[in-house]
Amino acid sequence: MYPKTIQNFIEKFSKLPGIGPRQAARLAFWLLKGPKETRQNLKRALENLDKDARACELCHYVMDSSTSLTIKNDGNNNLPAGRHGCHFCDNPARDHATICVVEKETDLATIEKSGVYKGLYHVLGGLFSALDTAIPANLKMPELIKRIEGFKKSDKKIEEIILALSPNHEGDLTAYYLEKLLRPLKVKVTRLGRGLPYGSDVEFADAQTLSGALESRKEIK
Ligand SMILES: [Zn+2]
Repeated sequence: MYPKTIQNFIEKFSKLPGIGPRQAARLAFWLLKGPKETRQNLKRALENLDKDARACELCHYVMDSSTSLTIKNDGNNNLPAGRHGCHFCDNPARDHATICVVEKETDLATIEKSGVYKGLYHVLGGLFSALDTAIPANLKMPELIKRIEGFKKSDKKIEEIILALSPNHEGDLTAYYLEKLLRPLKVKVTRLGRGLPYGSDVEFADAQTLSGALESRKEIK
């Protein structure tokens, strides 16, 4: 129905989360009719993702490659000498004894906006699903274990791991596996408490609900 150029655009854009073929077609025509500058800016923003963004080696949150080089590693974190972390891992003002485990970057952003949490993060990059028979390779679970072991070996105190996973089936499964993996490390593991309705997503929680859930977090035993 559409010319090849538009079909190709629809095919690529409908792979994005939350975008179906119909929205992709609408986007294509909106962009095509708009100023060339909008398309150029989008193209540059996409190129910059490849060029300038990379994952923090510790927490796997995204960071700008360029700014990371200007941050001084003063030994207040768990990074090897000469390596640089993101503005959470490399920030001495954060509480380095608490790690909040989140599914995705946008969950981290919601928690930050609530303003009640001042510790470190660990971005898992997804959740366990009911169909998984082993830990999915893309989940940064082994990295979390290694990170905590590293903390312990270097005598840095680690007081609490907060599992800020959405209260749904996948979140429960992930919390279950994480708790099993973390148990031998003898570290306190808590999970977000009341307020978040079952089946909801951390990302879309409002600041008040999230701070309530953080304050009423429960220890997993
Ligand atoms: Zn980091």
